[in-house]
Amino acid sequence: MEIKAKKSLGQNFLKDENILKKICESITTNKQDLIIEIGPGTGALTKHLVNKNSKLVCYEIDTRMESILKKYENKETRIIYKDILESNIIEDIKEIEYEKIYIIANIPYYITTPIIKKVMELAKLESMTLLVQKEVAERLASKPKNKSYGSLTVYLNYYFEIEYLFTVKNNCFDPIPKVDSAVINFKRRNTKPKVKDEKVLFKLIEDAFKLKRKTLKNNLKEYDWAKIYEILQQNNLTESARAEEISLEIFIDIANNIS
Ligand code: SAM
Repeated sequence: MEIKAKKSLGQNFLKDENILKKICESITTNKQDLIIEIGPGTGALTKHLVNKNSKLVCYEIDTRMESILKKYENKETRIIYKDILESNIIEDIKEIEYEKIYIIANIPYYITTPIIKKVMELAKLESMTLLVQKEVAERLASKPKNKSYGSLTVYLNYYFEIEYLFTVKNNCFDPIPKVDSAVINFKRRNTKPKVKDEKVLFKLIEDAFKLKRKTLKNNLKEYDWAKIYEILQQNNLTESARAEEISLEIFIDIANNIS
């Protein structure tokens, strides 16, 4: 049965078999691992994921997919027909024994950030491999001084090594979306950078990016500027530096000196 793509659910199905294989091969898992696929749709990625010899749980909001996806369900593979953002993932997977979690997803652009924020809380999360709009992938993988560098990128850098894997042209999808996409990988850091007080660091990052186009000095009026300026100078930055120029390492240095 042909299922008509619903635009409201961001349904652009990936048709290119080489890209599908490349995405699945980009993660290495074993029998003890749990892969969570978000939005399996008609099963384009799922059909490869079931061959990875790991446990697999898929979240799909569209119950019309049941007729297609049910053939993948077995002892190792479960399909949950729920909105991932409304789901209690830990509760849903509590009966499964696993060592590490790998997220894999071709997700609609409008829920990319909420999904990342939700799944990054999972204690056993090892990596996230996401197929997202190219522009979003570039923003998330961007480095300081790049115009798309923002607070979420800095925050994610604290937890993950972020790698832009490859671009996927828009004609690899059906229906064809307006823009190209890209695959991006977030790998949990084995050791997190040394931070005295995470709360201070996260508040600093949020405040630093508060008003776009403002200098750091303007956005950080409540802070001890002399201390911050000293660190900026040590890093060859001037008093008019903006948050977009500050790496995670410099934010950490500042946070450790003010907490
Ligand atoms: N994985 C398939 C592929 O690559 O062809 C489908 C990808 S399609 C871009 C996104 C999928 O996510 C759709 O099947 C859609 O129904 C599903 N989806 C959208 N919002 C969702 C949500 N909040 N929770 C779970 N699934 C969702």
